[in-house]
Amino acid sequence: METPKFIADEMNGDIARWLRIIGFDCIYLKGDKLDDKLIEIADKENRILLTSDKELFKKAIYRGVETHYIEQVRLEEKLKKIVDKYNLNEYIPKLEYRCPICNQKLVKATNIKKVPPKVKEKHKIILYCKNCDKYYWRGGHWKKINKILKYAGLTNTSVNKL
Ligand SMILES: [Zn+2]
Repeated sequence: METPKFIADEMNGDIARWLRIIGFDCIYLKGDKLDDKLIEIADKENRILLTSDKELFKKAIYRGVETHYIEQVRLEEKLKKIVDKYNLNEYIPKLEYRCPICNQKLVKATNIKKVPPKVKEKHKIILYCKNCDKYYWRGGHWKKINKILKYAGLTNTSVNKL
């Protein structure tokens, strides 16, 4: 089975970020009156549309686009529902690191002049986003990330291995 790809509406930037953190391709569009565009991209690129807008949800179903309605519950609850519904754990072993900000795949950092020496000593894996010119490593907010992953039943993502 092909790895699921997603597209999130304006209200679901947090979910887009979290899907990227665990390695899934998720586009995020911000702005008004994007219903038709969201549906069009989802249809063309075979992406699952994530929305909290009932009208958009209905419209997408009518147009034959796979759509998941996101209820306004806690973030980890939202994530867990998507993980369970689309069996995301099945795909996780073959996923790579993605930038939570821009959705690009991350590479192992080679030129790490911008990373503090202490971080370099402590962390084996430092990742880099060419698009954002940003470095990533297992930082101070790790505990919180780990808690959310655990709640959503995600114990084997590439982020768990950092
Ligand atoms: Zn980026």
